[in-house]
Amino acid sequence: MHRITVIGGGLAGLTAAISAAEAGAKVTVHEAHHTLGGRARTADGPYRTNDGPHALYNGGPHWSWLRQRDLIGPLAPLPPLEAARLRLRHKGALRRTPPFAMLKLLRHSAQQAPVDVDFLSWATGQAGEEGARAAAHYSAVALFHHDPGALSAAFVQERLRRATKLPPEAHYPRGGWAGVVDRMAARAWNLGVRMETLSRVDTLPTDTPVVVATSLHAARRLLGDDSLTWPSGRTALLDLALRTRRGDAFAVSDLDSPGWIERFTAQDRTLAPAGEQLLQGQIPIAPHETRADGVARAEQLLDLAFDGWRERVTWRRESVANGRTGAVDLPGTNWRDRPAVDRGDGVYLAGDQVAAPGVLSEVSFNSALTAVSLALGRNALDLKHA
Ligand SMILES: Cc1cc2nc3c(=O)[nH]c(=O)nc-3n(C[C@H](O)[C@H](O)[C@H](O)COP(=O)(O)OP(=O)(O)OC[C@H]3O[C@@H](n4cnc5c(N)ncnc54)[C@H](O)[C@@H]3O)c2cc1C
Repeated sequence: MHRITVIGGGLAGLTAAISAAEAGAKVTVHEAHHTLGGRARTADGPYRTNDGPHALYNGGPHWSWLRQRDLIGPLAPLPPLEAARLRLRHKGALRRTPPFAMLKLLRHSAQQAPVDVDFLSWATGQAGEEGARAAAHYSAVALFHHDPGALSAAFVQERLRRATKLPPEAHYPRGGWAGVVDRMAARAWNLGVRMETLSRVDTLPTDTPVVVATSLHAARRLLGDDSLTWPSGRTALLDLALRTRRGDAFAVSDLDSPGWIERFTAQDRTLAPAGEQLLQGQIPIAPHETRADGVARAEQLLDLAFDGWRERVTWRRESVANGRTGAVDLPGTNWRDRPAVDRGDGVYLAGDQVAAPGVLSEVSFNSALTAVSLALGRNALDLKHA
């Protein structure tokens, strides 16, 4: 029987552990934290915020993989009335529809964007500068980057398409992502995976193939390899609970600069106590900007879209997600240019900043499957030659 060690018990580590165990390997997972899930953890009540992922996109590969194994669990659909309450800030005013020029970029017939040009230059050629800027800023919902227009046009276009598809691709696991993590952990457990929490690994084991399913930052330290870098976003997060008021927006997208506010209780009432709404503002900030700058922009958006929000606040938290929101690709690069999964000597990388396709956590998922198939293939080969 093949043996595999997985370092990290987030979405990538759990995916690697399950797929390796399904293939018959004897798997041990080491997770530094006392619980599994990594960024996919959901805070214990009363305000059930997610650290990282919120939306599970049904157009991606992890949707069908999780579904085949019955791991998604109950979903919180967005009621149609709530869906209609998406608001857009454009030229300082709140509106219900995107500017016409931006719609040009969302057409099915829109040209495939190139990899080697920045999105703003390419999209300006297609739809004019106003539409290009609006589209770039809208895509921040799946990018978390302060300057989406400066990224590779092909990269931004894929995220824009996925984030604006109708019917929407975004689905929300009821009660937050903790339920998905619990089901994945139970599946791993039932397959005989040994899961050791509070088990930080400082030295790579040499007796088994290893899947390093940590953040890229942690992998860089663990492997002692300074080449393990790739750009990501930096985003100020403002979590708020507000007393309920009829007519609040479901979400507000800032088309004047990158930013998004979403009321997650619109689709899932279980995330906050009765009579309260749970919101999160996600405002990407530039390297020279502070958390306070991002929070100030979130407050401006709230002033526009959520009447009397300041008097309704029952809970509030501010933070910055730095390098934790997945890979972004600069012009001239695509996912194949990111740090490779196979590091040699039986060491494989999985995570959301390595060389695998997909949007956000789909990259963790895809790289985990690649890592395991390479690890098992290699091991099987070694055994054959032994
Ligand atoms: C604000 C925000 C919003 C997001 N929204 C979405 C979204 O809507 N949809 C989406 O799909 N994705 C979203 N993401 C991205 C998503 O959270 C991540 O892509 C995904 O959770 C990464 O999973 P992972 O397993 O690769 O890494 P992690 O979740 O970081 O897991 C790595 C694990 O490794 C452990 N570890 C680290 N070092 C060691 C060590 N030395 N020994 C043992 N264990 C170790 C850590 O404790 C951690 O548990 C969002 C992220 C953020 C921050």
